[in-house]
Amino acid sequence: MAELSTDLQALHGIGSRHAQRFRKMGLATLGDLLTWFPRRYEDRRTVKEIAALSDGETVCVRGFVAAPPTVTRVRDGLDLLQVPVADRSGVLRVTFFNQLWMKAALSPGTEYVLYGKVERNLFGCSMSNPVTERADSQSETGRIWPIYPASAGVSQRTLCRAIREALLICGGSIPEFLPEEVRQSYQLCPVKAAYENIHFPENETALQEARRRLAFEELFLLALGFRGVRQRRQSDAAEAFADADMSPFYDALPFTLTNAQRRCIAEAFADMRSGVPMNRLCQGDVGSGKTMVAAACVYYCVRNGRQAALMVPTELLARQHYDGLSALLSPLGVRVALLTGSVSAADKRDIRRRAAAHEVDFVIGTHALISDGVEFEALGLVVTDEQHRFGVAQRGALTAKGRQPHVLVMSATPIPRTLAMSVYGDLDVSVLDELPPGRRKILTYAVSGDYRPRVYGFLEKQMSEGRQIYIVCPMVEASDDRKAVTEYASELEKVFPGRRILSVHGRMKAKDKERIMSAFAAGDADILISTTVIEVGIDVPNASVMVVENAERFGLSQLHQLRGRVGRGKHQSYCVLISDSRADETRQRLRVMVTTSDGFRVAEEDLRLRGPGDFFGERQHGLPPLRVANLLTDTELLQEARTAAAELSPERCPATVKRAAELLSQGATA
Ligand code: ADP
Ligand code: MG
Repeated sequence: MAELSTDLQALHGIGSRHAQRFRKMGLATLGDLLTWFPRRYEDRRTVKEIAALSDGETVCVRGFVAAPPTVTRVRDGLDLLQVPVADRSGVLRVTFFNQLWMKAALSPGTEYVLYGKVERNLFGCSMSNPVTERADSQSETGRIWPIYPASAGVSQRTLCRAIREALLICGGSIPEFLPEEVRQSYQLCPVKAAYENIHFPENETALQEARRRLAFEELFLLALGFRGVRQRRQSDAAEAFADADMSPFYDALPFTLTNAQRRCIAEAFADMRSGVPMNRLCQGDVGSGKTMVAAACVYYCVRNGRQAALMVPTELLARQHYDGLSALLSPLGVRVALLTGSVSAADKRDIRRRAAAHEVDFVIGTHALISDGVEFEALGLVVTDEQHRFGVAQRGALTAKGRQPHVLVMSATPIPRTLAMSVYGDLDVSVLDELPPGRRKILTYAVSGDYRPRVYGFLEKQMSEGRQIYIVCPMVEASDDRKAVTEYASELEKVFPGRRILSVHGRMKAKDKERIMSAFAAGDADILISTTVIEVGIDVPNASVMVVENAERFGLSQLHQLRGRVGRGKHQSYCVLISDSRADETRQRLRVMVTTSDGFRVAEEDLRLRGPGDFFGERQHGLPPLRVANLLTDTELLQEARTAAAELSPERCPATVKRAAELLSQGATA
């Protein structure tokens, strides 16, 4: 019996040149082949009589070759082989393109099974290039047949043959990671049967059972891995915070907290009192007031004689948080400092010294907080305002700063709760599902480019009332119809001659970008044109209109984030989505934006329309790849897998636990 790690050259007919092409597809070993799962299946079981065939259907026909095949050379490089095949009901004309070798294989008087797409017209029935086998030795017909993701160098047929052989010679060495008792209680088939049937299913039931078993295994190992991460953390003691008088903080707020904010704060406080490090995700729509949840936790931490840190993705955001939070917290006796890349070396040194001597209670900063190696004397809480998701391992690096500080992660992209539990499986989740009262709905319109003059007229009106405008276009350089930021800016200068227009794009240096965005935030411009860089939290209460050009190019969640840049002040705000696309899918998506202002619903729709792979896009989400399971549709299975993982006694199956940990660390570094 071969091992999973055996090179696939061990297979018949695969030499070094062939193996090279397999390797290009990421397939080097027999084990790789076995996890190369079919993309879809063809049901090649239905056999029909020729007289009963209908145009366009794909089925099997069983018949005899009625006359010797004829060969026609249509032109150079195109040979036709034609042969009539008959059953008792009629005759099928069969054509093979460039497969002259079939000629010898087709002998008159012999019975064959042909699987292919039927063309039926006035002149009768025909098939082109059907899968053809002798009726007495069927292997690719008469069953459900796998269709693999193939490549130019490695054909479907080669893959099938290789995978079949791999199953035969090492199917018995596939490790069974699901403990017997789990398989029993959830009625999951053994691993070998699952692999055999995911590739070459005996029937639909076997295929469903194989799929269920393999998806379960993925979700189970994921859940088990997260459980391990949690348990390791929970075996670390964190200082249990004591009750503290929060009334100075609440009294200082210019508003009363929403119920959702109170609930999240209570959940976080309970964590920090527990003696186990908090590891909590606070999810909420744009504008739901996540900052105040963080501020309450910071105040609570400082009242407990500890220091806190807040990490945000950009300088501008760090400064905005600094301005807002020091105005709130300094009068309450919290010593706040700002540390970003642009702080002078002398100031950085000073902040580092004060952090180490506990002369500052709360440091707000960018990644510089980590990269400049700030040491805290008594770090009790790390908050990250997370625009992009960190992998499990990276989250770990943030907390290595202190001796087991509490961790609060703020997520700007609401995702459905079940998904949050798997993507952030090592975190507890709090949801801010309520907006502060009195928010006006952002009025959203989806229009075509013809409306641009009217949109401009509307913008002029808004600006004459003193408001500011964001305009987003998707690309830096003009290519095809994409509006370049710079081109767009000069065009707009002609439309709005007296207006101050600034533009930023992704290719600018971070410093220049920040400078321009700060100028806009300070009211030094009427219009800010940009690519999506403004997605990353900027807070300009005076901005009332968000215009998005080529809106079809953005994901729904992204559009929702962009829209969240307006409506942050007291003015009625608007979002105008411009798109000339007539595609149904685009219209459907933009329709969601127009009718829905709830970020969770937008995210759900986005996931539904695009699937989780595209939803997360290139973003690092820290998950090992799931080959079979679908986080969106396998919700029930996900629940079962989580329960099974929670109930497992790890000491009884060390190999499974080890595998789960390995998978998770792969995901984090991938
Ligand atoms: P986000 O969740 O997007 O980070 P913020 O924390 O920036 O939201 O809050 C958005 C705005 O709402 C801020 O101007 C903040 O001062 C205000 N805000 C937060 N909580 C409340 C509340 N309970 N009542 C009224 N306004 C609030
Ligand atoms: Mg925020």
